[in-house]
Amino acid sequence: MVNSLLNGFQNFKKKYFSNESDFFSKLVKNGQAPKTMIISCSDSRVDPAILFNAKPGDLFVVRNVANLVPPFEKDDVYHGLGSALEYAVKTLKVHDIIILGHSHCGGISALCSFCKKEAEKQNSKVKNETEFIENWVKISKGALTDLDFSKWPGETQHIAEKNSIKNSLKNLKSFPWISKSLVENKLAIHGWWFDMEKANLWCFNKKNNSFEKF
Ligand SMILES: [Zn+2]
Repeated sequence: MVNSLLNGFQNFKKKYFSNESDFFSKLVKNGQAPKTMIISCSDSRVDPAILFNAKPGDLFVVRNVANLVPPFEKDDVYHGLGSALEYAVKTLKVHDIIILGHSHCGGISALCSFCKKEAEKQNSKVKNETEFIENWVKISKGALTDLDFSKWPGETQHIAEKNSIKNSLKNLKSFPWISKSLVENKLAIHGWWFDMEKANLWCFNKKNNSFEKF
């Protein structure tokens, strides 16, 4: 696999880079100026640049398990996503932030599985089975309280994925400089859900609180 990646890089250099050398030297000379930030899942099947036909320099991307945004917290712990958000909003001054969720998300499955166990034990304490994963995905636990986990996965999985996107949009607004930029109309935030089975994109419409097929 690693060899095929190295071959891929040779291919990129030979075909893509040499055909677009002016474009790349401008990117080096002028620096990056993407207008869009995307927060997407680490899932290998959901690559924002491929999905949206984007070129180098177009997208400022952060990928993490289940494309989650934790609420704003100012402390001395390491904040990878917070620092990316800060750079995107304050320095790059992106116009849009997109939370890109997807169907069949393993991170959301881990969260649903935990919630299902908890429901079966009638909310008595359920222990984490992983060192980091469950604690991380529980960022969206509060957004799943209305779900009936006896019916999970099926449609419940998709509802959980979409509710989690809405929760991340809410958490984005807890960052003071994001909410300020939103009020000043300098920034817009979006929640999108990619159905990888049918290759459909669903966009959250806050006016009717639902996802609509693009
Ligand atoms: Zn995922």
